[in-house]
Formats: sequence, C-alpha cells, structure tokens
Amino acid sequence: MKQLVVATRNNGKILEINALLAGLVDQICCAADFVDFPETIEDGVTFEENALKKAREAAVYTGLPALADDSGLTVAALKGSPGVFSARYAGVDAGDAANNSRLLRECLDVPDELRQAAFVCVLAFVTPEGDEMLFTGSIGGKILSAARGEGGFGYDPLFLVDGYDRSMAELTLAEKNSISHRAQAFEKFRLFLCSDMS
Ligand code: IMP
Repeated sequence: MKQLVVATRNNGKILEINALLAGLVDQICCAADFVDFPETIEDGVTFEENALKKAREAAVYTGLPALADDSGLTVAALKGSPGVFSARYAGVDAGDAANNSRLLRECLDVPDELRQAAFVCVLAFVTPEGDEMLFTGSIGGKILSAARGEGGFGYDPLFLVDGYDRSMAELTLAEKNSISHRAQAFEKFRLFLCSDMS
C-alpha cells in the first residue's frame, strides 16, 4: 500500500504502529501531518463504534485509506471499566498519571484473585470508496497495586501481563509489540493487507 493515514495524535501509538507496519506501507502519515485534521467526538459505547467513526472521518477528510484504533483497558471487577472511557477515566483532560491514580483507588479493595483485566484493541480500516473492515486483539493480565516499570504508556505500569512476571511497562517495546492487544489486531490487519496485495 502506498499511503495510509492513521487517525491518532498519540505519539506512543504512532511509534508502535510504525514498527508494526514497517515494510507494508510506503508512507504512514498521521493527524499531525494535516492542517485541521478532524477531532472525532468519541461518543460510541463500544470500541468498534469509536474506531469506525474515527476512520470514516479520516478517510473522508484526507481522501486516503484510513486506519483508526480504539483501545482501552477493561477490568472485570469494575464491570468492564474504564473501557471506552480509558483515556478520560479521571476526567476529560486527565493524563496517564491521574487515570492510573483513579484505577488504583477503584481497585483498592479488590482482592488479588479478582484483579483480572484485559487490554482490548479494535482497528477500523476504511477506504475513501467506503469499504470497511474491523480487526480485534486482546491480552489478559491483572491490575497491580502499585506501578511498576518505565516503558510504554497509559495503564502499562499497572498491568501485570499474563504469563510474565512483569508489568507491560517492564517489557521492551519489541516484547510489547510481539504480544500486545494492538499487535494482535495489527497482525490481523497485516495479514489482510498481504492477502489483498497477492
Ligand atoms: P484510545 O484508543 O486512544 O482511545 O486509548 C484509550 C486509552 O486506553 C489510552 O489513553 C490509554 O490510557 C489506554 N490504552 C490504550 N492502549 C494502551 C496500551 O497499550 N497501554 C496502556 N494503556 C493503553
């Protein structure tokens, strides 16, 4: 594929996406490469709705095939929260630190055996012609009672990865990219691109 626009301003994600799609797309651009790129209002109640809305608006605005992800953390003991509200769990302008503090507070009384959680990623791919595809990935883990590690972004320091004795923030970028929810969704997208090109 020659060009792809990724509908995000999140530098952490842009770094990961560039690594994940290396060699498959000639030029990957993002929201910051366009003047007045649309700020999609993420008012969907599912990851799917939000991802599709972002990708549709990006494809219409740029005239390019567009990819958008909606991702977040779901915690079973919190009935799936923060879910689609992951980015604004502690308020509309909340950053990672405030969101993580709220998560720690909400989980304070949750015993160790009930701390299961998952990162979920839904990728929407929309072409200017109106074709639409969805790709989903998820990874299980447990919410820690204190932050661990310096890598990644978002809730990574509070997420103990299933099968590892490390938080997501203690994995290297290469390790995270080989197992993460986003990596799994992107692998499905990559296979789709490969089959589409053959
Ligand atoms: P969005 O997909 O940009 O709406 O992301 C929602 C929020 O989910 C982010 O602001 C992060 O707090 C969280 N999130 C998504 N992916 C990750 C990840 O890989 N690690 C940690 N947090 C994540």
